Order: sequence, then structure tokens, then C-alpha cells
Amino acid sequence: MEKIKMTTPLVEMDGDEMTRILWEMIKDELLNPFIELNTEYYDLGLENRNATDDQVTVDSANATKKYKVAVKCATITPNAARMTEYNLKSMWKSPNGTIRAMLDGTVFRAPIVVKGIEPCVKNWKKPITLARHAYGDVYKATEMKIPGKGKAELVFTDENGNETRELIHEFAGPGVIQGQHNLLDSIESFAKSCFEYALATKQDLWFATKDTISKKYDHTFKDAFAEIFEAQYKEKFEEAGITYFYTLIDDAVARVMKAEGGFIWACKNYDGDVMSDMVSSAFGSLAMMTSVLVSPHGYYEYEAAHGTVQRHYYKHLKGEETSTNSVATIFAWTGALRKRGELDGNSDLMKFADNLEKACLSTIESGKMTKDLALITSIENPTVLNSEQFIKAIRESLEKIYN
Ligand code: NAP
Ligand code: MG
Repeated sequence: MEKIKMTTPLVEMDGDEMTRILWEMIKDELLNPFIELNTEYYDLGLENRNATDDQVTVDSANATKKYKVAVKCATITPNAARMTEYNLKSMWKSPNGTIRAMLDGTVFRAPIVVKGIEPCVKNWKKPITLARHAYGDVYKATEMKIPGKGKAELVFTDENGNETRELIHEFAGPGVIQGQHNLLDSIESFAKSCFEYALATKQDLWFATKDTISKKYDHTFKDAFAEIFEAQYKEKFEEAGITYFYTLIDDAVARVMKAEGGFIWACKNYDGDVMSDMVSSAFGSLAMMTSVLVSPHGYYEYEAAHGTVQRHYYKHLKGEETSTNSVATIFAWTGALRKRGELDGNSDLMKFADNLEKACLSTIESGKMTKDLALITSIENPTVLNSEQFIKAIRESLEKIYN
């Protein structure tokens, strides 16, 4: 076949360890033979981040603002051990944190659903996409231990020095207090990203807080979502045949367990932290979870939800065979290629993304898979492939589609 052309580049962010090895294999076996790949390449591997004083991360985020679509490989977030391992000049911040702050985005995580890997919740038939607000609340709280009898108050001092006070509690004995905050800008960006992504993926959007108890704090979230929906999205949702549904968080949890999936669940920061681990583990495997950062300005950055799979990389360095699952990283590429195709009106590219995803799923459904999936599959006598064999098996499935 003639290779598919790309009119506009997408931003390619390379990464670290085992996922960097997979990255190259995916390009060699599954992308370059089929597409005249047009990317603007940024090496976010830790060595290059260190060499550029992390400027490369900033540059890659700016390029994403320019081209609107990026695909990212997993990267190491440095800690003390990495400082020595890579002889780092500084403990560079998490690239994901830097990019998210620059694009002002929300992360949406969705499981890749495939026959043979059944969710623990038997009525979940379609993916549940989880959106977590990634600013404030308990993650930026100030806390105090109260040693004994006394009065605790919330005090806000405005620019002119005027104070507003609310009593927290008259303590008769020891206790604890906590001050949380959030920003209207951040809440509104979160809401817009959620509405945008619901439209882009044609899925219903659910949102929940505890506004009956938290009549000012959580109610602000509820109101921000409702106002933005009414003003900007109500008609677009009607046209797309999707709905926005608000309820209380405990009711949402109960409904999610009984639902069949196929919707986006937007969560406040803490709820999202807790619920994303529940939803992803119930769907089967971290290696089958995709992640996309969506900014309210319409920039999209796709990646796998898992990390660099360090343990497998050390085996690889010792020359041992690995069986690392590349599906979430492949789906990061297909997500980005499909979005590129959509923005450029390139239907061949969109079709290719669909076909590559189908090839991944049919390979697994035919019983060929990596070890992590073989351990949990309901398919009898699966064939366990190594990292490279699995990608080659996907290539065979893909070639069958194109020939
Ligand atoms: P990890 O890479 O997510 O892997 C944790 C474990 O999960 C692996 O050891 C493996 O289990 C299993 N696993 C994850 N992905 C797999 C895959 N594709 N195929 C097969 N098994 C898979 O987390 P980590 O090893 O704790 O972290 C390594 C590095 O990743 C850290 O430096 C961290 O900073 C970074 N990280 C980056 C991102 C990101 O860039 N988005 C996200 C998270 C972590 P077994 O060992 O049992 O086979
Ligand atoms: Mg967590």
C-alpha cells in the first residue's frame, strides 16, 4: 500500500526505560511501514532533560500549544535514587506536572476493553473514563494540631485589610483543623475540559460533589459546572445526543457500580485519586489504561497511564527476555493520530488509527498476549509472547487488515 501522508506534524515526546524501548519498536513495526510519520521530536528522556536543564519539557509543551496534538512516552519522575543513578544536576520536576501546568489541562483515563480480559464488575460492558480535577483541596491544605482549649477561626483579609471571619470551632480540648482552598479559574477550566472531552468522544458526562454538606465549597463546583453547561454546552450536548448529569458523590458511586459504562466520570481531586485506582484495577490491568490530557483551549496530549516499567527495563539491560505490554502506548499513538486526522480532515489517518487499535484487540482475542494479560485472561491456553514478538503479532494482524 501507499504510505499515508500527514499534512501537519504532531508533537512526539520520547521518554525513559522500558517504554522508550517499546516506543522505538512501535514506530519501526507499526507506524513507519504504514505512515509517512510527520512529528516534531522532543527527547524527554531523563538524560536530555538533565542536559537541557529541563528546557526540553517546556519546549515540548509550547510545541503542543502550536500543533494542538502530542503523544508522550512514560518518563521518570526523579527521586533521590534517580539523582545518583543519572548523576542529575537537580531533582527535575515531573514532566507531566510541568506540561499539565502549562496547558492548564485535565487528565482523562480510560481502560482499553477487550474480550478475554473481563472487568471485576460484571455489568461493566463499556469503558468508564475518569477525569480528575488536579488542583487544590486536601492536596494544598494547611493543617494545624490544636493542643487544647481555644477558638479556631477562618480569616480572610482582602487587599484593603478588611477581615471576614467564620468560626470553625470552640475547642474544649485537643483536636485538629485543616484549611482547604480552590480557585474559580481552575474549577472552570476543569469543567470546560470535561465538557469538551465529552463532546469530542460523544459520551455522557457525570459529575458529583457533596454539596448538601459543603454548601459553599462544593456548591461552588456544582454551580460552576451548571453555569458553564447552560451558557456554552447545553445545545451542543443536545445536538450530540449526550447528557450532563449531576448528583451527590455517594449516589454517583452507587450508580457507577450498577451502570454498564460508556460515560465520563468527573471527580474532585480527592475523589478522583481514590476512584481512578478503583476503576482501573477493576477493569483489569494498568497496562491497558490510556490517559489523555485535555486543555480547555483544545490541546490534546496522549499517553499510557503506566510508568516506565523500570523492573522490566533492568531485566532488558541484563539481556533477559521481557514480556512488557505495549498496548497502552500504542493507543497513545492511535489517539494522537486520530485527533491529528480529525483536525486536518485526514480520513486515511483516522482510519489507520482505528485499524491499528483493531489489530491490537484481535491479536489479544486470538490468544496472543503478554504475560500480564495471560495471568488474568479468561481465554484458555493463551500464547505468552515477549515484548518484541507481541508487537510483531500486532503487525501481522494489521497487515491482514490492509491486504
Ligand atoms: P510502572 O512503570 O507503572 O510499573 C509498575 C509495575 O506494573 C511494573 O513493574 C509491572 O509489574 C506493571 N506494569 C506496568 N506497566 C506494564 C506494562 N506495560 N506491561 C507489563 N507490566 C506493566 O511503575 P514503576 O515501575 O513504579 O515506575 C517506574 C517509573 O515510571 C518511575 O520512575 C516513575 O516516576 C515513572 N512513572 C511515570 C509516569 C508517566 O510518565 N506518566 C507514570 C507513573 C510512573 P511487574 O513488575 O509485576 O511485571
Ligand atoms: Mg492515587
